[in-house]
Amino acid sequence: MTKLPTAGKQKQVELSPIHDFAAKLRQPGILERLKDYVRWQVEWRKARDEGKPMEELYSSMPDQAPLSINLDVTTACNYACDHCVDFDILNKNIRYDHDKLIDSLTHMQSKGLRSVIIIGGGEPTVYPKFGEVVRHLKSMGVKIGVVTNGSRLDRILEVADVLEPEDWVRLSLDSGTNDTFRAMHKPKQAKVTLEWICEQVPAIKEKNPNFTIGFSFIIVWNDCEANDFKIHENVDEILAAATLAKKNRFDYISYKPFLTRAERNNAEIVELTQDDQKVDPIMAKIRERVNEAKQLGGDGFRVIESTNLKVLENGSYKDYTDQPKNCHMQFFRQVLSPLGIFNCPVYRHVPQAEIGEKHGYATPEDLLESQRSTLKLIETFDASTECREVTCLYNHVNWYIEGLIDHPERLDQLEHSEDRRDYFL
Ligand code: SF4
Repeated sequence: MTKLPTAGKQKQVELSPIHDFAAKLRQPGILERLKDYVRWQVEWRKARDEGKPMEELYSSMPDQAPLSINLDVTTACNYACDHCVDFDILNKNIRYDHDKLIDSLTHMQSKGLRSVIIIGGGEPTVYPKFGEVVRHLKSMGVKIGVVTNGSRLDRILEVADVLEPEDWVRLSLDSGTNDTFRAMHKPKQAKVTLEWICEQVPAIKEKNPNFTIGFSFIIVWNDCEANDFKIHENVDEILAAATLAKKNRFDYISYKPFLTRAERNNAEIVELTQDDQKVDPIMAKIRERVNEAKQLGGDGFRVIESTNLKVLENGSYKDYTDQPKNCHMQFFRQVLSPLGIFNCPVYRHVPQAEIGEKHGYATPEDLLESQRSTLKLIETFDASTECREVTCLYNHVNWYIEGLIDHPERLDQLEHSEDRRDYFL
């Protein structure tokens, strides 16, 4: 397992396998793609030092689509969460041409797309053709994850038959009582309660027990603010949420810290509080509650602390803000949204992170153009300044790839990692 870099007296935090992106990129069938990219970067840097324009290297550029994308199928949402990180873009009636979306996924798969996380920008399950998108991806062998608010689990039940063991569905619920759930999420329909959502999970598990269903809990403490609102605190519901999740046959509950947006460039950042004096008591309370919840682990139920929570607790989160100039993960993982193609989930709908327009993968010609834009953005988007406030979990893999570019002779000795068939980035 890969160790994360840390500074000073802080303890190292071990990357959980799902965040060990360097190991994921060395899996059989993927390693050659990593090597192709590194060799191209070596060639490009040499050419650049000789004063050549990037256009001259287009013919040798790796002919690949991203390995993994976050796919926002819609900007529509049936909740009005105060803490929504996509608050500014919701319900703007900006859409794909559906056939072009399907074409984009087909072309990307033909160039190596292996996993899709169907996620935010809006609520994916309210997209009328959600089921068609899922079935299309599964028919091409693509692994999928779905992040949903839980209000349309009938749509998950409908597609459960095609989901496989590496696929997953994660419900963003963030509460252990219905009062807190409704205060935080403001669902537009009265029938949507926390219990009503959770009680639908066993029927999905009955239909297909093979894929994973998770309960996601973003921990909000007493001075969290977003979108000019004070966000409802939920630290005292950490245990109640785990109890509810276990009772309703979720496979796990995961706890993550609240993210806010940087004023400078709208990036999502982890920040416990502006006031250092308050950090210890808040973190101590969170730790106590999470430890109580952990007692419920077992019998097929897991209680997971996110890497973000661990690095926030041990104070090493600032280490993840030291990025190399070039973010290589833009090549392997992107966001496809009705607002365009973006280089990172942290920068959905941020202009300086835009690779192309929403149908930029719909035809082979568009795909070629987007590949070129990606390589240009890797060169021009300076992650060392743009991402200097972001606790970036891709920090390790970016430095790892930098190391390979500096020492391409290591490529020949590079060995496969274990084949976990996990291509989510
Ligand atoms: S360095 Fe991290 S936060 Fe910045 S663009 Fe890359 S992956 Fe995203």
